[in-house]
Amino acid sequence: MSIEHLMPTYARLPVAFVRGEGVWLEDAQGKRYLDALSGIGVCNLGHAHPKVAEALCEQARTLVHTSNLYRIPLQEELAERLCDLSGMQRVFFANSGAEANEAAIKLARRFGHERGVEDPAIIVCEGSFHGRTLATLTATANRKAQAGFEPLVHGFLRVPFGDLEALERAAENHPGVVAVLVEPIQGEGGVRIPPAGYLDGLRELCNRHGWLLMLDEVQTGMGRTGQWFAYQHEALLPDVVTLAKALGNGVPIGACLARGPAAEVLGPGSHGSTFGGNPLACRAALATLEVMDQEALPERAAAQGARLRERLCDQLADLPGVVEIRGRGLMVGIELDRPCAALVGEALEAGLLINVTAERVLRLLPPLVIGDAETDRLADGVAELIRRFLP
Ligand SMILES: *Cc1c(COP(=O)(O)O)cnc(C)c1O
Repeated sequence: MSIEHLMPTYARLPVAFVRGEGVWLEDAQGKRYLDALSGIGVCNLGHAHPKVAEALCEQARTLVHTSNLYRIPLQEELAERLCDLSGMQRVFFANSGAEANEAAIKLARRFGHERGVEDPAIIVCEGSFHGRTLATLTATANRKAQAGFEPLVHGFLRVPFGDLEALERAAENHPGVVAVLVEPIQGEGGVRIPPAGYLDGLRELCNRHGWLLMLDEVQTGMGRTGQWFAYQHEALLPDVVTLAKALGNGVPIGACLARGPAAEVLGPGSHGSTFGGNPLACRAALATLEVMDQEALPERAAAQGARLRERLCDQLADLPGVVEIRGRGLMVGIELDRPCAALVGEALEAGLLINVTAERVLRLLPPLVIGDAETDRLADGVAELIRRFLP
């Protein structure tokens, strides 16, 4: 086994897992790890969920792929289910979050052109993450990730996250705005939660200007924050919602959902995907949704998230060096006053899989199936690591 033939796009930790079960992963030496990352918010049902495994095996024996040149009943069923849950009306299926966002970006541009806007612009936020393709990389607010890939894509305006006034001002100087693309809670940006009412405010602003409100729920969607979708914590409905990560519990699938005029923009030949929404991926997503429903996982995420944050606060809130413990549902961030990437390796040693984002924010995204004892163990393990890390 050698890493030499891989393009070194990731600084990988020196561990490989050979199997998983629920919130646990195991390496080749038999060491067990409590997984508080879930493959970056992907395996919300935990690893090797028997119902998803069963559905996948059965589908693999029946039909893996046909083509979007034909009808795909599982895709139609999944689209209907997602629309029921989200209040959207139509779905385009892709294979990843970046692709789901690409579809949203293309949709917004067409929407603009159909309304006579020749040079349509999309407003995005500081601290955002929307993916690594050229357009989504441009929408992403990370200069380091963009460096060396210029020319970037034209047609994006950036404003501070959580600031409605700045957004209105930016639009005054730019008549071509057609849409706002924003994460309800910024994930890669450091588990940043906007002020209460921000999404409702965005909705109002978009209504007033005739813009599309496009929410990137690739990380926050699928129950992660304690509702099926994070915008459901407020009263609004967006025009476009993008999903991926947890949608297939590890089988790659992304989706761009839309309602109203936005749902009618992309017609025959305007966009496509060879793999998008194939029978295997859709079966995985349908099985995932079924389990989420049966086990009431959005509610469980809310309850376990509250338990986790409370136990973390009990142990850490008074520590100098801990800036804030925040989150919604099982999307939790612990912001320290200093860079803390070194914690990831120490956690690994201790049998805990965590992640650090935005340099100073320890991020926890455990599977939504986590139980009381595991949540307590996670909180205690993380608190212990941080106590040792901060002098
Ligand atoms: C992970 C993520 C993406 C990109 O998803 P990929 O599947 O890696 O392309 C986009 N937006 C958000 C908010 C994400 O967290």
